[in-house]
Amino acid sequence: MARHNERSELLAPSDADPRGGARRALSKSFGRVVGRRTRILISGLVVALLVAGCFISFLHYQRGAAMATAPTSRLVMPDEVCPHFNVLKLFTLLLFLYLALLWREIEWLTYCFSCVRWSQFDAIVVGGGPAGAVMAKLLSDDPWRRVLLIEAGNTSQTQLGGKVGRGAIPSALNVNKLTPFDVPFYWTNVANTLSVHWAYPDVNIAKALGGCGIHNAMLYDRWGMNRWTWAKAREIYLGIEDYDGPNSSYHNTQGFVRTSPPSMIDDVSKAFVNACEQVGIPRTVDFNAPGGRYGAGFYDFNTRNGVRESAAKSFLGPILDDNAATSNRENFRLLLDTTVTKITINDANVTKGVEVRYGNGTGQIIRLAEHGKVILTAGAINTPKVLMLSGIGHRDMLQKVRLPVKKHLPRVGMNLQDHPVLGVTFQCVSPFNVDLE
Ligand SMILES: Cc1cc2nc3c(=O)[nH]c(=O)nc-3n(C[C@H](O)[C@H](O)[C@H](O)COP(=O)(O)OP(=O)(O)OC[C@H]3O[C@@H](n4cnc5c(N)ncnc54)[C@H](O)[C@@H]3O)c2cc1C
Repeated sequence: MARHNERSELLAPSDADPRGGARRALSKSFGRVVGRRTRILISGLVVALLVAGCFISFLHYQRGAAMATAPTSRLVMPDEVCPHFNVLKLFTLLLFLYLALLWREIEWLTYCFSCVRWSQFDAIVVGGGPAGAVMAKLLSDDPWRRVLLIEAGNTSQTQLGGKVGRGAIPSALNVNKLTPFDVPFYWTNVANTLSVHWAYPDVNIAKALGGCGIHNAMLYDRWGMNRWTWAKAREIYLGIEDYDGPNSSYHNTQGFVRTSPPSMIDDVSKAFVNACEQVGIPRTVDFNAPGGRYGAGFYDFNTRNGVRESAAKSFLGPILDDNAATSNRENFRLLLDTTVTKITINDANVTKGVEVRYGNGTGQIIRLAEHGKVILTAGAINTPKVLMLSGIGHRDMLQKVRLPVKKHLPRVGMNLQDHPVLGVTFQCVSPFNVDLE
């Protein structure tokens, strides 16, 4: 499943499967005679006919046996009881023969089945950031739902924060085997590394599996309570959190999203927070406790032992291999280095699938199954962009750039908000020794 740049690869079983080549060769030789779906249909019909034949003959035999009630001095043979007995034998024999034949071709049948099965999806998730990672994992929890996650960037488990030690920076001080993506190690470098970013001016938007979760600061604080009540938000946070800080009724230790107090606090930071207290700014012990939002203190992080615990790691990590390329879930596919250029919507305004562009420049339409859904989790800027490219947005704006109007939704792409961050620099009045290592 690594990277799929050709249609045939997308539909084929995993390249990592050593039997894949043999299956494909077998399938090819059958393919010369009749089409794939026709073969499956014929096999199904033959088995159904043989089973029906056996069943009907058996019913006849039963009826004949029931009628042969006259006392008899000799053993009545089954074919005397029912003239169809020989037909029953014939059908049973044929059925076994055919099943034996099928058994030899079972590999080929599995392959054909997976081709049909993977030619369309029940859910296509666009964008593998924190939102997409959660959606893809939860949707694919149902083994009958075929889920495809499409991400424009690439990735590694190191970026996700997974598999501690892989890609770690070699250093005697790096006891936790931190990587450049970990907090607070070198992550500020990553936040400015162009190769993992969209080429948009003035904004840092990650283009990689994990989205901005691969380069953000991992600050763990509970924002945005406009519509949610504090009690509701707290209930949800407690449900998912595994906190390794001091015991508190505002944290839980049983969840799967691992959070921690900072693993390292340098002397300057301690001195700064003490100084804040001295000038009357309240000391905050927990920014996630009610009333704790305003004050000076130390944030908790989505980390464990300094290692990044991104949403992609928590949700996708367990279902992906070490390279974050193949999945252990049969019903889940991941396409990396693949950009969704448009959602395909038919004249009746029904979503039929997505148009993608692969890293090698080729394109393809990926189809949705009947009643399937496209879930757009491409981030604050790319989500409205994909919507508008698909004809959903303000009519005037779409017409201005000659895009077809599928749905006039005036607020798409409007009201973008960001949170300002202000860095303030202070000068120490007395000399202060800092161990930068
Ligand atoms: C520098 C920085 C620091 C931050 N610090 C913190 C912090 O400390 N704590 C905190 O909680 N939050 C922080 N955030 C915010 C947090 O990272 C975001 O809220 C979060 O990543 C949003 O998740 P998302 O899935 O909605 O979008 P994104 O993370 O933007 O993910 C969208 C994904 O979709 C992919 N994509 C986009 N378009 C397409 C397309 N057409 N086809 C296929 N794939 C596509 C992108 O490549 C990307 O991987 C920070 C953000 C930044 C930028």
